[in-house]
Amino acid sequence: MSEKKLENMQDLVSLCKRRGFIFQSSEIYGGLGSCWDYGPLGIELKNNVKNSWWKAMTYREDIEGVDASILMHPLVWKASGHVDGFSDPMVDCKECNARFRADKIDLSAPCENCGAKESFTEPREFNLMFETTMGPVKDSGSTVYLRPETAQGIFTNFLNVQSTMRKKLPFGIAQIGKAFRNEITPGNFIFRTREFEQMEMQYFVKPGTQKEFMEKWKEIRWQWHLDQGLDEKKLRFHDHGDDLAHYADAAFDIEYEFPIGWDEMEGIHSRTDFDLGNHAELSGKNLNYVDQMDGNKKYIPYVVETSVGCDRHILALLCDAYRVENAGTKEERVVLGFIPKMAPIKVAIMPLMKKPDLEEPARKLMDELSQLYKCEYDVSGSIGKRYRRQDEIGTPYCITVDYDTLEDKAVTIRDRDTMNQERIPLENVRTYILNKFGF
Ligand code: ATP
Repeated sequence: MSEKKLENMQDLVSLCKRRGFIFQSSEIYGGLGSCWDYGPLGIELKNNVKNSWWKAMTYREDIEGVDASILMHPLVWKASGHVDGFSDPMVDCKECNARFRADKIDLSAPCENCGAKESFTEPREFNLMFETTMGPVKDSGSTVYLRPETAQGIFTNFLNVQSTMRKKLPFGIAQIGKAFRNEITPGNFIFRTREFEQMEMQYFVKPGTQKEFMEKWKEIRWQWHLDQGLDEKKLRFHDHGDDLAHYADAAFDIEYEFPIGWDEMEGIHSRTDFDLGNHAELSGKNLNYVDQMDGNKKYIPYVVETSVGCDRHILALLCDAYRVENAGTKEERVVLGFIPKMAPIKVAIMPLMKKPDLEEPARKLMDELSQLYKCEYDVSGSIGKRYRRQDEIGTPYCITVDYDTLEDKAVTIRDRDTMNQERIPLENVRTYILNKFGF
């Protein structure tokens, strides 16, 4: 059997649309630039990713979760440096007005949109925060921002969480939520969008210990991506070296090899006391931690953060899972080979024909297994076609109820990857499936 992996992002974009994973936002109006909607299967996949991250990051003694609001006091973004410094250098082509990020293109090359030579304006800084106004009166005092990162909702709640949950250093606060950036050049499907979801954790540590925790979190986060089923050969660390954001004293990315090349999927940053220190100064609140283990010394903790884009990780999972077996032949089949816990649909239940005596046991199974997992009931088309559809959406198991079922009270369970079929007594199906998933 031959196998082909994903080479062209367009193949994935069309599968995602055809099978109900991801649609263009506002599609009936022609879409809205780089905004995407998750469909029925996409949201299952997304929830699986979020649950897996949430469990890995907060079902532990030293990390608590929060869900902060998207709109925050405008001074938050002054303290964080975003009002003054969160910008990308932008150039316009004087011929066609196309806009580019100056740090992402060769300014001496012709415009990649119209081919004009030496046509770029001087780079200007463009702030990436979306602005809106709060309340009925639109004046400068009512300007608020859509958060460009979830981290600040964690910093502003540092004292609340530390005191209510009686936390001692080191400890972390985790959050999943939307972030917004008015990116100059969004694109590549859900890789870079203007509205996206982040899964972030800020780990508060004693100053001087940040390097040790940086190493620890690099290891934990690397392993998480492997546990999600990603191919280790397609992962690597990128050390930022001295090329650091305004708040960091060290930074590593976990990069994935997308069909568009290697690029960042997660950032692991040592943010020092930059954020808490600035919030303490601008708010006038005392954000010191009193270290009872060290003679009641007072200090602002240092922070090591792990920040992964939920959508970017989903794109990696989709690219990684996509394979075409026997490409170009009559037996060609497209498979999304997710690990079982990531699959949007865990089990498909298929009565061989649309007949009441087959549908009755099938519906019973559907009811029983739906208490455990997201299942799909599919009664239309040939069995072969139904298997192909389930392969394409990554369903690990298909259960067929056929005429023999009425005699032997057993069903056929087909494995997505091996395509092997096993005959299992109806009364054992629940245990069989539970054992297969192991959760
Ligand atoms: P980039 O260099 O790609 O713009 P960044 O270094 O600014 O990203 P961070 O601020 O470190 O990104 O954000 C953490 C994570 O959030 C990234 O690793 C990425 O997975 C995700 N992310 C950031 N910007 C976007 C975006 N516009 N669309 C989708 N995901 C994003």
